[in-house]
Amino acid sequence: MSGTIDTTAVRDLRRRLRGRVLVPDDDGYDEARTLFNAMVDVRPAAIAQCAGVEDVRGAIAFGRETGTPTAVRSGGHSVAGMSTVADGLVIDVRELTGTEVDPDARTVRCGAGVTWAEFDQATQEHGLATTGGRVSTTGVAGLTLGGGSGWLERKHGLSCDSLRAVELVTAAGEPVRASATEHPDLFWALHGGGGNFGVATAFEFDLHELGPVVLAGLMLWPGERGRDVVELMRDVMTDAPDELGTAVVYLSGPPEPFVPEHLQGALCTGLALLWAGASIEDGEPYAARFRALDPEVDLVGPMPYVEFQRMIDDPPGLRNYWTADYFRELGDAAIDVFVEHSERMPVPSACQSLVIPWGGAVARASAEQTPMAQRDAGWVAHPFVLWEHADDDARHLGWGRGISAAYKPLSTGGVYLNFIGDEGQDRVRSAFGPSYERLAQVKARYDPDNFFARNQNIVPAPAAGG
Ligand SMILES: Cc1cc2nc3c(=O)[nH]c(=O)nc-3n(C[C@H](O)[C@H](O)[C@H](O)COP(=O)(O)OP(=O)(O)OC[C@H]3O[C@@H](n4cnc5c(N)ncnc54)[C@H](O)[C@@H]3O)c2cc1C
Repeated sequence: MSGTIDTTAVRDLRRRLRGRVLVPDDDGYDEARTLFNAMVDVRPAAIAQCAGVEDVRGAIAFGRETGTPTAVRSGGHSVAGMSTVADGLVIDVRELTGTEVDPDARTVRCGAGVTWAEFDQATQEHGLATTGGRVSTTGVAGLTLGGGSGWLERKHGLSCDSLRAVELVTAAGEPVRASATEHPDLFWALHGGGGNFGVATAFEFDLHELGPVVLAGLMLWPGERGRDVVELMRDVMTDAPDELGTAVVYLSGPPEPFVPEHLQGALCTGLALLWAGASIEDGEPYAARFRALDPEVDLVGPMPYVEFQRMIDDPPGLRNYWTADYFRELGDAAIDVFVEHSERMPVPSACQSLVIPWGGAVARASAEQTPMAQRDAGWVAHPFVLWEHADDDARHLGWGRGISAAYKPLSTGGVYLNFIGDEGQDRVRSAFGPSYERLAQVKARYDPDNFFARNQNIVPAPAAGG
């Protein structure tokens, strides 16, 4: 017996799949079950390491026939731990790799197991890119299906906005290709509706010219300069071109040789900046405006895009609490909350408190293109809390929940689901607003029994007349 799956059933599952099926006593099981968030210490009964589309079909069929709770896993960065399931089956697509770039057509097709590090490496060889996450270790699959927010978004939209097609296996085990002309309702739902509709096996994206060297980097000030930096960012972004991506972040000064000793481990304010324009020179005046605030560390300059994408990779193996809220405008009251609460952030730690400007191409997508609501929100506040030991939970969770509660009266009520843990069904609805009902119809068409429920869940609409 392995969780809810007995030995005979495991043998059956193994017979159906080309890839490996790991159960608790197998070598590699512990590594395979580990997610980014160390708070998620879950033991699935079996992990199906799918080697191809037929394996995905076999795993889905097995999960359905045996009534086994099933989760879908790619990059493993679900902070809520939705990509695993206690005593159930994990459909692991990490072996679906491969990234094929067509530089002439400026398109790419990649397997659903690819991370942004692999994706960016392959596309940047041709001086091409599409919006990916702000770190390199997240999975292309989970991030894109949830929308996909990154440094290029004001110029090129969220990751999902550059999708040309998604290949996936539905709950009925049917492989489908969703694009603007094939299953267009499903394609629309996959622009932010997450893992609700099937197991994605491959993605196709449009690519855009970028770099490979861009103007980008970080600046750092002591924490008490935070208000100056965030107010300046608000001014700069008021009429900034779409090419400019920025964020202000409170963080602990990293113990790196380029950080002055008095800032190492102390509360700092950082600015991350990326200029996505064709000419690096055109971005310099924006960097210069922040430089006028005399940062103690200034790493902004020409650098490979792939290097910038790795620059703030967070360490795995820590405990995580994430949340987020939208603001229409970044008013003084929101800045007060950001500054006052961030100044009380536990340090030294891996915690970060971020404010990110949206706008540009993010705001221009219509409800016909994507189910995500409130993409015209001007700003996203995103505290993420990372710590090492369980006996520090109360202090860190207390800080995270405190800043989140203080943001609430000032926020729009909408949310970007990739930036939060499991905050319940009301938050899922608020992320989609009026598009929720249409999503529920699409869910009912492709997953009427809610087989794919380990996600920011969209409840299938009841059958007509039912
Ligand atoms: C350190 C860190 C940095 C992050 N930075 C960003 C960022 O800059 N921008 C941003 O938008 N988000 C960011 N996120 C959030 C991230 O996008 C989401 O957690 C996303 O779901 C992770 O995708 P994954 O494939 O790595 O995760 P997984 O944990 O493998 O999967 C998460 C969920 O995605 C779905 N899913 C995964 N693979 C498939 C598939 N093949 N088919 C169908 N559904 C699937 C499932 O519902 C699953 O529960 C970050 C998260 C972390 C931990």
